[in-house]
Amino acid sequence: MSDFSVEANGLTKYFGNFKAVDNVSLAVPAGSIYGVLGPNGAGKTTSLRMMLGIIDPDEGTSRLFGGLKPQSVRGRIGYLPEERGLYPGMKAREAIAFMGALRGLDWSEGRRRAAAFMAELGLERVIDEKIRKMSKGMAQMVQLIGSIVHAPDLIVLDEPFSGLDPVNQERLEMLVRREQARGATILFSTHVMAHAERLCDRIAVIARSARRFEGTVDEARALLPMQVRYTPRE
Ligand code: ATP
Repeated sequence: MSDFSVEANGLTKYFGNFKAVDNVSLAVPAGSIYGVLGPNGAGKTTSLRMMLGIIDPDEGTSRLFGGLKPQSVRGRIGYLPEERGLYPGMKAREAIAFMGALRGLDWSEGRRRAAAFMAELGLERVIDEKIRKMSKGMAQMVQLIGSIVHAPDLIVLDEPFSGLDPVNQERLEMLVRREQARGATILFSTHVMAHAERLCDRIAVIARSARRFEGTVDEARALLPMQVRYTPRE
């Protein structure tokens, strides 16, 4: 097994003349929980999308699992994009199995795992509920489960805490810890330091398009200015 699940080197992206991401490098240790922290518009989403090969960088490279191109390992990745979306007419269980099937998981196994995940999180009561009847937060939990139901080696979550009430935020934390215990690597973005502090082994801070810090949470505590550390919890 490689030491790093993600190795991003000098990632740079322009939108027109605007440099949305400027020379961002980071390495996510295999099996770790890694946070990309920064204010809205800092360039987190664009960085994650380049790391996963969803968009091409103008400069720099991203390699996964010890040197592989992201496009060649799609089945080993679970991704929750910033823009959420599920088919509103599907029931939770079907939506999860459907997302698994898109990643090559057998349909009945997907349904079985969907039920197991929902039960583990205390969400049995919504398993046969249609997405359109759910709160946004609950639909987001369903999409989150759908994005990891195929047991990916690397889980990338874009602002997963946004839009969740405190109970679902706790469920998300539980899921992240559980997936790490299974051996997965988790990379997630957030603009709230408290989320990173509670969960992450390491963090990178991106602000105004560039990486401003990389290290452990303890190092961040010692170094980062108060206003970055104590962004209020949503
Ligand atoms: P947020 O959480 O608000 O999405 P972010 O840190 O994820 O913030 P990005 O979404 O990566 O930031 O956006 C970085 C900057 O690039 C922002 O100023 C955004 O407006 C701009 N940007 C992102 N995508 C595009 C695009 N397709 N075309 C033009 N500008 C873009």
